[in-house]
Amino acid sequence: RSGTTTPSRQLNGFASGNNPKAGALARRQKIIQQRRSLPIASVEKRLVEEVKSNDTLIIVGETGSGKTTQLPQFLFDAGFCRDGKTIGITQPRRVAAVTVAKRVAEECGVGLGQKVGYSIRFDDMTSTSTRIKYMTDGLLLREALLDPYLSRYSVLVVDEAHERTVHTDVLLGLLKDVQKARLRSLSGKESEDKNPNINKGEDYQPSTLKPCQGRKFPPLKLIIMSASLDARVFSEYFGGARAVHIQGRQHPVEILYTLRPQTDYLESVLVTIFQVHLNEGPGDVLVFLTGQEEIESVERSVQDQMPQLPEGSQNILTCPIFSSLPSEQQMRVFATTPSGFRKVILATNIAETSVTIPGIKYVIDPGFVKARSYDPNKGMESLIIIPTSKAQALQRSGRAGREAPGKCFRLYPESEFEKLEESTKPEIKRCNLSNVILQLKALGVDDVIGFDFIEKPPRLAIVKSLEHLFLLGALTDECKLSNPVGHQMARLPLDPMYSKALIQASNFNCLEEMLITVAMLSVESIFYSPREKSEEAKTAMKCFANPEGDHITLINVFRVANEFLEKRRTVINKEKDEKIMRKWCKQNFVNSRSLRHACDIYRQIRRHAEQMGFHFSSCGDNFLQFRRCLAASFFLNAALRQPEGIYRALASGQVVRIHPSSVLNQTKADCVIFNELVQTSQKYIRNVSIIDYLWLTELAPQFYMMPN
Ligand code: ADP
Ligand code: MG
Repeated sequence: RSGTTTPSRQLNGFASGNNPKAGALARRQKIIQQRRSLPIASVEKRLVEEVKSNDTLIIVGETGSGKTTQLPQFLFDAGFCRDGKTIGITQPRRVAAVTVAKRVAEECGVGLGQKVGYSIRFDDMTSTSTRIKYMTDGLLLREALLDPYLSRYSVLVVDEAHERTVHTDVLLGLLKDVQKARLRSLSGKESEDKNPNINKGEDYQPSTLKPCQGRKFPPLKLIIMSASLDARVFSEYFGGARAVHIQGRQHPVEILYTLRPQTDYLESVLVTIFQVHLNEGPGDVLVFLTGQEEIESVERSVQDQMPQLPEGSQNILTCPIFSSLPSEQQMRVFATTPSGFRKVILATNIAETSVTIPGIKYVIDPGFVKARSYDPNKGMESLIIIPTSKAQALQRSGRAGREAPGKCFRLYPESEFEKLEESTKPEIKRCNLSNVILQLKALGVDDVIGFDFIEKPPRLAIVKSLEHLFLLGALTDECKLSNPVGHQMARLPLDPMYSKALIQASNFNCLEEMLITVAMLSVESIFYSPREKSEEAKTAMKCFANPEGDHITLINVFRVANEFLEKRRTVINKEKDEKIMRKWCKQNFVNSRSLRHACDIYRQIRRHAEQMGFHFSSCGDNFLQFRRCLAASFFLNAALRQPEGIYRALASGQVVRIHPSSVLNQTKADCVIFNELVQTSQKYIRNVSIIDYLWLTELAPQFYMMPN
């Protein structure tokens, strides 16, 4: 039996009847009815009034109450876009920006990219007629580089502020400044002093934005939306801004714990999925996992075990959702579950508050999340899997009680819950700040330490990041953005180290190869290796493997895949091309979603590089210059071999091992560079290539040569 292929007409949720017009009409009516029944619908008038009378407003409301989808429409209807201005809504996550924009376009009965659109890094779906624009918080920061007063927006909504991503935090500081500067533009200093919304306390600072040379900007309406009840921190930051609460509807959720701690939480997820499926009543299941790799592995295991379901039981329809999933596939989670199926949604913490999926009655929560972690002493950022906070656990369980009473299975003992942190630490306190500091510098904020952050990052982390940017050549020794490298790096939408690699690549005649590398490194796991076929997967990978390291191996995958497709590409049939590609990927144990995403990213950064006038060149199969370029760019991530197969990272002194997935896992290279540090029971480096130790002093003397 097959539980994965379902007729798409059914998946669209209006399988009834043959008349498409009647189907569309029924769907419109359903949408109107759904909108009316949302908790936020009853307070539309009041909310619009609040926005009119407050320049800054904080809106707190439970997940699913309609904040993200409805408020922008209310404001549009109330005339906030009248003189051609746009309402912008920022999201910490790409998936949320995309799926919500699609939903709202549908609610408005318009095509996506017209009145309603979205814009995320590497994917812009807006036009000059877009008035309601969903975007990531990082993208709005980049827009500010080109338009410091964000002049096209009448209203900016910072959504999901409780997530406190580093971009959200920086954005809040920036928007506070823009708001001030716009008021100042209206009538000089006077209006600043008269405006009651401005905190004129002791630490009152004038805007850091450049004067606007006589241009006048209408005031900016700023709305901060959050799912956590504690609005105080935002309100205080915005000088006592008004906060309103939207009453949600929540049904009781029964919480179940395991008796003992689980040694393998993925195994226990699998067992729980089938227990729920066989023992519980109807309703969809939402499982929280930490990333694409886990999601895909659980998805495969569920599908493998499905044939063992007893005769006559319902099928399971698995729906993954994570940020690099192609957007048509992201939308599958919202489709009505076809009859005869139970939907099992495998999600990252994106489904905690960012997107509300209808129909969930059971939540399975192993209690983990992938988080960035930064050690300023060692200057190393890594991704680690850590326990969720209590606040996150509560949000997750809440997802089971949106429409009716539900159940949440926490895969840890109750005593463990008590030990969890109350809330998640803001990301700005635990990440590498190079990227945001580069952006702040480009925005004209010279005194980064003095920037009005909602919560200050550790001073040491700022200093380390400044040093890091200096070593990469982005800053001068007066800590100013350097010309042209610093400015170029700020323009590229990439991690500073990757930007540096692209900028350098022209000098090493390998821009083409570096573009491919950066694109391939920007996605999670190109290769996949199912447990039961790990030997076959290894053999397949050997065809691409290059003895000099993972970077060239990734280039090989990209080249072979694209050559293969080029030969078979049809002019008219995109779907057929995709199918050919998927088949090729399956045969070669390549993750087709990741590869497709990498190809998209490649095209986008290539366009950036073209616009910036980079000199295009390829090193063909002579990779010496390419590896030298790796050394010149990633010199901060170099490691030297020690006895017993371990390595010592030169910048931090940490002891690391080469990750088992690396082609260099069994080799004994003396000196390597790497791109990623992952920490499980041990510290592993991933994406590793061999370099010559002497290149470091030659190509990165600023770091490896002691001054005399
Ligand atoms: P909030 O922002 O307050 O958490 P949302 O505005 O995201 O709430 O969601 C409001 C409602 O819209 C929810 O009931 C959700 O199920 C529904 N919804 C949101 N996005 C979609 C979608 N893409 N398809 C179907 N329903 C959706
Ligand atoms: Mg929302």
